[in-house]
Amino acid sequence: MRCDYCMPAEIFDSKHQFMHRNQLLTFEEINSVVESMIPLGVKKIRLTGGEPLLRRGLEGLIQMLSKHPVEIAMTTNGLLFGGRGESLRNAGLDRVTFSLDSLDPIIFEKITKTSGKKIQCILNSIEEAIDCGLGQVRINSVIRRGINEQDIDRLIEQFEHLPVSLRFIEFMDVGNHNRWRYNEVVPSSEILNHLQKTMTLIPIDSTHRGEVAQRWKVDGKDGFEIGFISSVSEPFCGDCTRARISADGRLFTCLFASKGTDLKSIIRGQNKNNGIQDLITEIWKTRDDRYSELRSNTPKPGTIVLPKIEMSYIGG
Ligand code: SAM
Repeated sequence: MRCDYCMPAEIFDSKHQFMHRNQLLTFEEINSVVESMIPLGVKKIRLTGGEPLLRRGLEGLIQMLSKHPVEIAMTTNGLLFGGRGESLRNAGLDRVTFSLDSLDPIIFEKITKTSGKKIQCILNSIEEAIDCGLGQVRINSVIRRGINEQDIDRLIEQFEHLPVSLRFIEFMDVGNHNRWRYNEVVPSSEILNHLQKTMTLIPIDSTHRGEVAQRWKVDGKDGFEIGFISSVSEPFCGDCTRARISADGRLFTCLFASKGTDLKSIIRGQNKNNGIQDLITEIWKTRDDRYSELRSNTPKPGTIVLPKIEMSYIGG
């Protein structure tokens, strides 16, 4: 897909220089990074991207990772999920999140540059994931003003009878190419107020520090849940416990970082695991990223302009 707010087609077209295969961490290398991070307290791994299901034999990686005492989750656009739910779950995948911003074929196509007919394929994937017991399935929707606000109600109608968590994500100023505009951000509070006019929402306590979504149950809709990820209107940098590793082995301590630390050359060098573990410990102890808080402290949001890495490079 070429979602215009993430990986716009005019930048990521056939002339774009994608990474060569040998620049990517192999499954064994990814596994060795994970292995070295387990003693540091890692509890959950999320496979994202780019599109994780484009990586051939992903089940093989999941199988390796599932030997560690971690929860394994994946975020996907759902297009290549059909028919693989069972094999992914058998490999050790615990949870899956699907991204779906619109149920209207024309709007979907406008956002993703992908045929609106594919919506059905994503809906089928969601059902398949539910049927094969992949945890509580989540659906991520980025709502932008003037683009897909009508989908708030449509998405609720579509999913309220299913045991899923529908999460509305504020449009974030990640990367350099998504033409982010503050006035396209629909604050979570606005969606919440809108929904409360027609349904009774009951807040759900967060289960752990660093949980990014504020979650609500809907009275009368068992199993269905609504979440809000409000990183623009209510930044949660202070609670962030995420480290991100790009496909080419760089470690980032913030979604909005401009540079990461190259782990691949250490892995491919001599002193392997210990070297990585010590380095990650050092980076983690000294990290001070708080981009979203800084952004919201500026009088005019959108005026901090830093070169940032792309969301499609480190995943969201
Ligand atoms: N290809 C996968 C997918 O489509 O879900 C995984 C990668 S995608 C970068 C992960 C999530 O980031 C998606 O739910 C997407 O909607 C979200 N995302 C990308 N750019 C965003 C932005 N600028 N603001 C908010 N969410 C964004």
